[in-house]
Amino acid sequence: MDGSVGPMRVLVTGGSGLVGRAIERVVKEGGGREGEKWIFLSSKEANLVSAQETRAAFEKHRPTHVIHLAAMVGGLYRNMRQNLDFWRNNVHINDNVLNMSHEFGVVKVVSCLSTCVFPDKTTYPIDETMMHNGAPHDSNYGYAYAKRMIDVHNRALFQQYGRKYTAVIPTNMFGAHDNYNIEDGHVMPGLIHKTYLAKKEGKPLQVWGSGRALRQFIYSLDLARLFLWVLREYDEVEPIILSVGEEDELTVKDAVDAVVEAFGFEGEVIVSFHTNSVWNFKFTPFKQAVKETCDWFAANYDTARK
Ligand code: NDP
Repeated sequence: MDGSVGPMRVLVTGGSGLVGRAIERVVKEGGGREGEKWIFLSSKEANLVSAQETRAAFEKHRPTHVIHLAAMVGGLYRNMRQNLDFWRNNVHINDNVLNMSHEFGVVKVVSCLSTCVFPDKTTYPIDETMMHNGAPHDSNYGYAYAKRMIDVHNRALFQQYGRKYTAVIPTNMFGAHDNYNIEDGHVMPGLIHKTYLAKKEGKPLQVWGSGRALRQFIYSLDLARLFLWVLREYDEVEPIILSVGEEDELTVKDAVDAVVEAFGFEGEVIVSFHTNSVWNFKFTPFKQAVKETCDWFAANYDTARK
């Protein structure tokens, strides 16, 4: 157990979000071990932008391990409008969580980056060593640089204090408890919400985007299982990409087809189309994952974030 004494006390920041809720479910369904304590923190319990509130949460819970998910997260347009807010809020959250983890002697922290940390102009295939090799895309540089600084913080903590704090880099994710906002959400939840409404209102489904660009979608429950693996087994400071294999890359058109099929949407679809796999992990088949997510959204429409 990472050299720690006694059972783990794992504090999950961002415990009320898409990934946090998926980890909670995986822990409940057998991923947790006897004696372990899992604490899922929401912003209501502690606003991690505040150093005082972060300290109070660490004093209360005294974690031995931290999964750090909390972040100001948003879709492309919100990022473009609010780069300053994304930069400042996320830098404060990350600095507070990593600094408190160090001060309270947390054995291991697994933070969550995003593929947008990679340089805008890059060569393929992308790997973990390329993160700082050039500026990130201009649209969400505030968010992207704040994520990159987690890696800087982790490396410096290792260099100065020997701390083995690390980070994962997941690709586009989706699943229950996502933010289904059409304007400001990510690709899959936005598409799911739009298709749900088109079916309900008997209207055509209108989709924009590049139908040919390849995306790697990861189901939040698969990501949650991989997070547990990283927490228990991965012993490096260098971040690790969590993604389906290149052979499972999909176009946005493939995603549209899967969502349409999952909802049994029979209306017109108007489409205006203007790396690194992980060991032997068995990913949920894409169509099954989409079906489960759409079923969840339809069943929880009134309370889902949108
Ligand atoms: P969500 O938006 O679903 O959840 C965000 C979480 O962060 C919530 O639990 C929220 O708490 C918490 N949070 C936000 N601001 C604060 C704050 N000031 N203080 C304390 N907690 C706060 O995000 P995801 O689950 O999708 O994302 C988890 C991680 O994965 C993030 O680090 C994100 O950057 C990263 N990521 C996400 C991707 C995606 O496709 N969704 C892709 C790649 C990376 P509350 O709800 O209580 O406000």
